[in-house]
Amino acid sequence: MPMERILIIEDESKIARFIQLELNHEGYEVELASDGRDGLELLKTRPFDLVLLDIMLPSINGFEVLRRLRLFSSVAVILLTAKDDVIDKVMGLDSGADDYITKPFAIEELLARIRMALRKQNRTQVSLLTHKDLVVDVEKYKATLRGKEIELTKKEFDLLTILLQNKNKVCTRENLLERVWGYSYDGTTNAVDVYIRHLRVKIEDEDMSVIHTVRGVGYVIKDE
Ligand code: CA
Repeated sequence: MPMERILIIEDESKIARFIQLELNHEGYEVELASDGRDGLELLKTRPFDLVLLDIMLPSINGFEVLRRLRLFSSVAVILLTAKDDVIDKVMGLDSGADDYITKPFAIEELLARIRMALRKQNRTQVSLLTHKDLVVDVEKYKATLRGKEIELTKKEFDLLTILLQNKNKVCTRENLLERVWGYSYDGTTNAVDVYIRHLRVKIEDEDMSVIHTVRGVGYVIKDE
């Protein structure tokens, strides 16, 4: 799976650079635009998975950028708002944004919101995930093996979904823990191993192995 690509449209270059470095560190590919016009141009010509959009921008403001963007794209958008922006408007259904965050924000909170928005987007884009005889319907929260429904707990289901969404890419225990249990969870990564074991019992048999262990790192579902 390719790296997820994020566009930051923000005129304050210090803030933009700071966010970019943090996102690079998390493994995202990041591009910057310092005004709405450049941002829209980039969005028309290159694929992005998510946009961080500042509202107070020179020439075209963030709301207007969003309005124009929605004419040709349904990419996930998180608005960066200042305290005195009109939050009602930000939250209004017609703004077309997926989420917003108020400056100044903790970078951890921004990262959590980005993960959430990307997850939501992945779910709406592909609701049926398949691997061998296994079919997972993300929207209906239903998993079937050779046509027969499998009973999974919510965490088992989330683990399986993430592994399928990241097919052929190793998911580390830490990453799975963060995405399924939330980044505030402070238990050990053993929880992941325990749930993977439960999951395997339910979805694998001697004819079909699904989840591969990458010793000392994590897990992966691979096309063979
Ligand atoms: Ca600004």
